[in-house]
Amino acid sequence: MIILDAGTGLRKLGQALLQEFSSGAMNLTLLLSHTHWDHIQGLPFFAPIYESRCRLRIIGCEGSRKTLVEALTGQMETTYFPVPFSQLPSNIEIEELQDFTFDIGNTIVRAKRANHPGVTVGYRLFSPDGVVCFFPDVEPRSGGHQKDLVEFVKDADLLLLDSQYDSEEYRRHVGWGHGCVRDSVALAVEANAKRLLMFHHDPDHTDARIDELVKAGRDFATEAKSSLVVDAAMEGSTILLSPGSKV
Ligand SMILES: [Zn+2]
Ligand SMILES: [Zn+2]
Repeated sequence: MIILDAGTGLRKLGQALLQEFSSGAMNLTLLLSHTHWDHIQGLPFFAPIYESRCRLRIIGCEGSRKTLVEALTGQMETTYFPVPFSQLPSNIEIEELQDFTFDIGNTIVRAKRANHPGVTVGYRLFSPDGVVCFFPDVEPRSGGHQKDLVEFVKDADLLLLDSQYDSEEYRRHVGWGHGCVRDSVALAVEANAKRLLMFHHDPDHTDARIDELVKAGRDFATEAKSSLVVDAAMEGSTILLSPGSKV
């Protein structure tokens, strides 16, 4: 099982996993895009780490000015949290990304640096059922990264992409490391992705606002005469990849 990032949603995932795997070993791999707070804060609240039968492999890049180990265990020091990382009964391995291509079970993973403050990557997962690309925090347009990114996410079956802003909001936040809906759709269309999941929603956007942005995204795809499917990423949703699609 591969988990992408450790935001606050990790708490609910932990509960669901304990219910689904009520006994026996639990083997999990967590891929981190970076150590900004909104991507690691769920880890102390992830119930499986309090179970000795849980084996968790965490892979990510260094925590900017700290090592990955320091960044992850630091948020569990007594100033912030009652249970120190060293007292967790589960078996946790923390590995800094060395090779940008590696395997997790039958899934081949590739990582790529993303244009975002600090040290940040996105992932491309080649699973037997399809290709999933995950770039939760990236500003594709500035810094000339767009072309590389298009190549990296080429033909993805599912592309989860930072689409935090509308075009007007983006103009006020150029250089902040996040993308806008228009650029996300343009990138997904150019890369011939099948489905785009807009992600990293702005905390000030209500569900109604996100619905409007999805509609705008679909209109951009139609304008571009593309069959790209555009949706917003949503808590608790299940998406099945079609078995047998090419990697
Ligand atoms: Zn970030
Ligand atoms: Zn973020």
